[in-house]
Amino acid sequence: MKTTHLPLPSPAPGMQRHLTIHEYGSGPRKAYLQAGLHADEWPGLLTLQHLMTRLEALEQAGHIHQHIVIVPFANPVGMNQRLFGKFPGRFDATTGQNFNRGMSLSIGALTHRVGHLLGPDAKQNDLQLRAAMRQLVAEKSGHYEIEALHQALLSQSIDAHLMLDLHCDDNALPHVFYGDHQRPTGTLLADSLGFAIRLEEDVRGTVAFDGSHTQPWITLAENTGKLFAEPCFAATIELRGQKDVSDALASRDAEGLLAFLEQLGFISNSNAVAQPQEGETLGINVDQVKVITSPANGLVVYHQSLGDWVEAGDLLAEIVLLDSNRPERLAVAAPTSGRLFSKTDTFLTSPGASIGMIASKDQQIQPGTQLSY
Ligand SMILES: [Zn+2]
Repeated sequence: MKTTHLPLPSPAPGMQRHLTIHEYGSGPRKAYLQAGLHADEWPGLLTLQHLMTRLEALEQAGHIHQHIVIVPFANPVGMNQRLFGKFPGRFDATTGQNFNRGMSLSIGALTHRVGHLLGPDAKQNDLQLRAAMRQLVAEKSGHYEIEALHQALLSQSIDAHLMLDLHCDDNALPHVFYGDHQRPTGTLLADSLGFAIRLEEDVRGTVAFDGSHTQPWITLAENTGKLFAEPCFAATIELRGQKDVSDALASRDAEGLLAFLEQLGFISNSNAVAQPQEGETLGINVDQVKVITSPANGLVVYHQSLGDWVEAGDLLAEIVLLDSNRPERLAVAAPTSGRLFSKTDTFLTSPGASIGMIASKDQQIQPGTQLSY
């Protein structure tokens, strides 16, 4: 194992931050895993610690066959957001930007840079595109700390063959996001982790960190008609809810990740197995997720549990109307049928605030608009 501390630009006099990067094994293919890009999401931080313990032993036994890069905490900027005992962590305090948005490469610039270099040899095309992406990342400019953070992360990840970004929700069943053009590998990942809910998305529109790694491959292939041999597979893994930080869960998830890495040939002899799955598999497009919003100010109380299958019209929750002159509640009916897989922990809610998500079988929003906020 090799550990590097990559310095980030000083955000203020007397302050210095850095990214920690651990590397295992060597080989032409690279797997990159990070956790905590949203700095208030901590289950993945522990999962990677369990994974690192296992990778150290595998490396000593000679069972790592490719290059594996672990960034154990991806957002030292957000981790420093301590505000009156709370950890906001999701948005940059200087620009207001979501830490998991706005880092995709310009497809126009990439096409201009590499389009004319692509030919009939798919493996050569891979090398050309990875080199061009590394160049574009190195040339990224910006004054804000979040821009420097994104550049530092992408400098380690953009040429990966496999990129896994560990997140979590407020209070949720485990689930994964991946590109809808990569279903076989996405299914293998979800099966390895034992996660029943798989959300597939079109990565041609607004993308998060994961889509920033897959968007260049699919759009360049479409724009140029040229083939690639091994485009990057990327996924966002939602490790349940913010409070789901435990050795038992982290060990389980690390074993699932190891089983996946072994299936893809990065390691061998790990004895890791696919983890048991709770609940029936539900693979849908992200535009089939219905976000339920609060209709009023008040306290939300739920009448359904995580994992429940609800029918449209079922009583999902009530909003306790604290402004009323006498105790009064407003019923929130399930707007569609499906599985309730996410709830909020912010029980004091307000009009338009998300109070949950249902994985349904019907389209709920226009494709490609799920990350527009
Ligand atoms: Zn997140």
